[in-house]
Amino acid sequence: MNTPASPPLAAEAGSAIARNARPSAGFDALLQEAEDTLRRAAGFAPVTQASSLGAEDVVITHLINALGLDIGVFVLDTGALHPETLALLARTRATSRATVSVYHPVQESVVQFVRREGPEAMYRSIALRKACCGIRKMEPLDRALEGKKAWITGLRREQSAARAEVPLLGTGEARPKFNPLANWTWGDVWHYIGTRGVDYNPLHDQFYPSIGCAPCTRAISLGEDFRAGRWWWEDEAAKECGLHVKKTEGAPA
Ligand code: SF4
Repeated sequence: MNTPASPPLAAEAGSAIARNARPSAGFDALLQEAEDTLRRAAGFAPVTQASSLGAEDVVITHLINALGLDIGVFVLDTGALHPETLALLARTRATSRATVSVYHPVQESVVQFVRREGPEAMYRSIALRKACCGIRKMEPLDRALEGKKAWITGLRREQSAARAEVPLLGTGEARPKFNPLANWTWGDVWHYIGTRGVDYNPLHDQFYPSIGCAPCTRAISLGEDFRAGRWWWEDEAAKECGLHVKKTEGAPA
């Protein structure tokens, strides 16, 4: 049985809900699929959800809480997040039934990198951008996943060409990765947020579909690709931070 919808919210004109909430014809089946995937993931305990607090991730955390599953949640606070994201993190920690853990980079590594390369090193080369992601994201990610048998992400096939083959359960990495929203559309995500009254990052209302660190995220214009606002100065092929790139495909150390 699907998690029940709250009374529909009156979406504010111009909000991300008003703009995007368009359930696909098979939404009920997709919701069932996501719930079944999360229940299956819970059987891999200890299992954890990687949350960036983006739209997909707040849906998954809401589902975990609504289903009462024994799944923890973690957020990587890179030290470069928007104030809106940090405020949502505080609200989420205060209201979530599931434990929300926060992982920070090693401060000394950040200080040394910024001292050596400057605060805007990520714009100078892909190598420096990946080095920054390595310090602020990949190393804390390794700590967050230590001892976990599986993890859960908000990857969807529709997000980019690089994610077009995302499976509900990926097994090609060190630990299984569940992607319960793999088959959802952007309209499905916002339909769920709107009908369940899920708290979300207000940057989505300002045309940020994908939200990462402040220096590396911008709003997109009408007609631009979903991930055009992430690392916009780089080629499309380089646009992953390493979190969702298989180690064998060259994720930064
Ligand atoms: S997204 Fe940008 S600021 Fe954040 S870790 Fe990567 S390069 Fe650094």
